[in-house]
Amino acid sequence: MRDSELIVIDGSFGEGGGQILRSSLSLSMVTGRPFRIDNIRAGRDKPGLLRQHLTAVRAAAEVCGAAVEGDAIGSGGLRFSPGPIRGGEYAFSIGTAGSTTLVLQTVLPALLWAPSASRVVIEGGTHNPHAPTVEFLGRAFLPILRGMGAAVELTLDRHGFYPAGGGRITAMIEPAPVLRPLELSTRGEIVSREAVATVAAVPGEIAKRELRVVAEMLGWGAEAVRISQLEPGRGPGNLLTITLASEHVTEVFTSFGVRGVSAEAVARGAAEQVREYLRSGAPVWEHLADQLILPLALAGGGRFVTGPLSAHARTNIAVTEKFLDIRTRVLDSSGGNQCVVVGP
Ligand code: ATP
Repeated sequence: MRDSELIVIDGSFGEGGGQILRSSLSLSMVTGRPFRIDNIRAGRDKPGLLRQHLTAVRAAAEVCGAAVEGDAIGSGGLRFSPGPIRGGEYAFSIGTAGSTTLVLQTVLPALLWAPSASRVVIEGGTHNPHAPTVEFLGRAFLPILRGMGAAVELTLDRHGFYPAGGGRITAMIEPAPVLRPLELSTRGEIVSREAVATVAAVPGEIAKRELRVVAEMLGWGAEAVRISQLEPGRGPGNLLTITLASEHVTEVFTSFGVRGVSAEAVARGAAEQVREYLRSGAPVWEHLADQLILPLALAGGGRFVTGPLSAHARTNIAVTEKFLDIRTRVLDSSGGNQCVVVGP
């Protein structure tokens, strides 16, 4: 039954970034419950809606024919009243290097609930610091969703880096109105590992230096590392992507090249995350943890073991509890890990 009572969200709560808005949009679309959000991104340097957030709002509105107030650049407040979700062909363009994957994650839950299949094309940034990369979604997030019963395919059509943008992704989404609960307590044995240094209009020597550090810190041989050299026109861009596939889960660790930061320091950032993950024994790491909260809540239950929960994850837990009749408990697990248990 659709509940028309307005849900009020304080956008400055918890992590207080863009995610609280995107999660509210996703949950509003799926539950049919309208919401108002105030203090959007109040804690950030440039508060209010930036292009990426505004594109997510407009995309959400298009997918469910919502009535929206406050959808303007810089806006600190928004009112969103969703209508029925429609599948079909969608194309969204951010207009900057804002993250395409975050826009996709906003509309994805709703499109799983749509009465027909969808094809979604999004233009903007595909490899952004502080957002999931296409590889992260494709290798870590989506396989878990598939295990829960959602058939979603993601293609990287063109890379887009900050600040140039110009990237494009395409997602094919089949309806999956019933998600199965997830149980992810162990990761099992590591089955494959890979480190890729990507460069576009950046000297190949940078990639070599990054991979040298990764190989040394993780004790990996030449067969586990490689360079991906893109056409210079796509750049400038540089990132290091480390993928660890285990029996029950794949995790992806990313570090971005930044002007003024040495290639070695960039590589140490990603390799240190991998070491921590391996030491912890947990299957799920920081970013996957906050991104799994919504699917679990929408499935009505499940559990996973992760490292110490981030503010993003705790904020997502609070937002899901505003929209859905579920309760999430965070229990201490062995080795300083935590177990997130979602249930009625
Ligand atoms: P702002 O903080 O400027 O509002 P935002 O809208 O980009 O930023 P956040 O609220 O910070 O969003 O949320 C960013 C999302 O991207 C979170 O789900 C976070 O886990 C995810 N993320 C950040 N870095 C990575 C990474 N390296 N790999 C995978 N996911 C990431």
